[in-house]
Amino acid sequence: MSDFQRPTELLIDGAFVAGEGDAERVLNPATGELLVALPEASPDQLHKAVSAAHRAFDGWSETTPMERSRALLKLADAVEAQAEAFARLESLNCGKPYARALGDEIPAVADVFRYFAGAARCVSGTVANEYLAGHTSMIRRDPVGVVGSIAPWNYPLMMAAWKIAPALAAGNTVVIKPSEQTPLSTLLLAQAAAEIFPKGVLNVITGRGHTVGQPLVEHPKVAMVSLTGDVATGRRILQAASGTLKRTHLELGGKAPVIVFDDADVASVVEGLRTFGYYNAGQDCTAACRVYAGAKVYDRLVADLTSAVKTIKAGLQDDAESEIGPLISDRQRNRVASFVERAMMSGHMEITTGGRASGGPTGAGFFYEPTVVAGARQEDEIVKREVFGPVVSVTRFSDAEQAIAWANDSDYGLASSVWTQDVGRAMRVAKKLQYGCTWINTHFMLVSEMPHGGLKSSGYGKDLSMVALEDYTVARHVMVKM
Ligand code: NAD
Repeated sequence: MSDFQRPTELLIDGAFVAGEGDAERVLNPATGELLVALPEASPDQLHKAVSAAHRAFDGWSETTPMERSRALLKLADAVEAQAEAFARLESLNCGKPYARALGDEIPAVADVFRYFAGAARCVSGTVANEYLAGHTSMIRRDPVGVVGSIAPWNYPLMMAAWKIAPALAAGNTVVIKPSEQTPLSTLLLAQAAAEIFPKGVLNVITGRGHTVGQPLVEHPKVAMVSLTGDVATGRRILQAASGTLKRTHLELGGKAPVIVFDDADVASVVEGLRTFGYYNAGQDCTAACRVYAGAKVYDRLVADLTSAVKTIKAGLQDDAESEIGPLISDRQRNRVASFVERAMMSGHMEITTGGRASGGPTGAGFFYEPTVVAGARQEDEIVKREVFGPVVSVTRFSDAEQAIAWANDSDYGLASSVWTQDVGRAMRVAKKLQYGCTWINTHFMLVSEMPHGGLKSSGYGKDLSMVALEDYTVARHVMVKM
């Protein structure tokens, strides 16, 4: 795996060029080894990328939905044709098991491009009519302009697809900056896209947040900024965008509550938590990490969950038995470990399994054991703050009102789930939860047709679905006096 090709060139105005800024060390988090020292975009290169996108906008925004659809379908085909190469890079750079990247993520990425290829041709809305006598009104949905997209490290290629596909489908041009920690799969996507799209329509630049991300947000020719990242980054981007009053689209963190009623099917809850709490080593903004269990089911749930979590196999990318990989960096692992250490010191919480860092099979990776924290209380930090690691807390509740109040007592509002066999109760609770998504008797499942995005500090703006396509357009009224 370590001999595998690593793309390093940025895509600016249809040309592949080496970054001219400082080099960022891109690591394999499963072994700590250096994959590549990748020079980031210089200020001049950033300006060239935005200018290229700005020049390309006139032509791309004039294409028909059918033409844009065809290009996106070709990109989906290209991703599938190189599925192994994309999965190799993604697993190498993120530490994910290769089989998971290949089986779960790459098909989802191709599907997102195909969905938006179709969606581009199916935008609907209010009909043209004479709402004022003698005057015909119609609504246009036009692209916004140059979109500056900024992506995180947890699902680099999928986040790139979520941002690029609706933006290009709507007729915008894009400059995307992947996370400085995980740029490789997006650079490979640039190679595929360069064969399909006119020059300047999609530009890929790499670099750190403060040196490349922030100037991208501030650039006067960028009309809209889309970020998936941390809440603190969202705040900084809002401040930076305020000078030029840009449209912003923010997908920030999460702390998903999982309400388990006494009548829930405990076996499927445990299976669900084992999967959806720890997938991608818990580095997922929708991870099922904050469990509220009814008083009668609590003891059994903690016992069975603990046994199940002990069987999660963490390992290297190419080990076919690996279910999860390491955390993205030593820094992220230290952050996760410090949350668990503080929970241990509380006196009332118990770490029923996990709670230790490890180097993994090579001794030098950034692994952290899948962990269950039992006896957590609503006011505890582990219940309130996003850990972004393989750590699930369990809190006992006494009645539905308390569970709903605790679930909603959060700065976050991205994802939630309710587990019960009583459909009426599930629907009543779902209605009251202040979250962008509520699953019933499952968690974590996304489809391209349904919107994904948050409330409160989890941000606003939706990914996926027709809602995302609309987010990347402006509604305009045209009136004709007859
Ligand atoms: P991050 O905020 O540190 O970085 C995200 C991106 O923002 C990176 O590309 C980074 O370089 C860039 N950035 C950082 N500072 C910037 C600045 N001042 N100006 C412009 N760009 C800047 O987030 P991360 O650590 O990469 O990802 C983890 C976070 O992302 C978690 O909080 C997670 O919950 C969130 N996330 C949310 C969703 C969602 O859909 N809501 C999905 C995945 C991840």
